[in-house]
Amino acid sequence: MCMDYKIKCRCGSSAASFNLRDGVMPVEIVNRLYCPECSKDITYNPEVMLYDNGWMIEYDMDIAKFMGQNLSNNTHITPAFLFDEGYCTWRGTYPTDHIDSVREREEIIKLAKTDPKKYFNEIKRWGIERMERLAAEGWRKANEREDARVSN
Ligand SMILES: [Zn+2]
Repeated sequence: MCMDYKIKCRCGSSAASFNLRDGVMPVEIVNRLYCPECSKDITYNPEVMLYDNGWMIEYDMDIAKFMGQNLSNNTHITPAFLFDEGYCTWRGTYPTDHIDSVREREEIIKLAKTDPKKYFNEIKRWGIERMERLAAEGWRKANEREDARVSN
């Protein structure tokens, strides 16, 4: 199940799309979202917040803990757990990933009709270089282990 939940940040200049794994968590657990602009004046609180490259997600941990109580007896529900395990995380690698990737791929996709082999090589190269760039930029999901379960 992959529904797209778009949430605007506090200042309204940006928005991020969220993915909620298995529909365990309602999107309402996102209390507030801060983009790199509006997060500047906010004090990071790891008890309820997840920081990713200037963005901050503030979760309603009471709802999250309540909704997650059946996940596992020993699960300690934290913002990092919600994010890293995919229960409430970016759709894609970073907040606007799926919008950017469609745009970035447009040119390459044109090749698919005219030169399939070149298309294959280009899309592969694009994928690798893109992940390297995102990892270098410091996005949390781009720096995950390769066996990360969270995917798009
Ligand atoms: Zn903002």
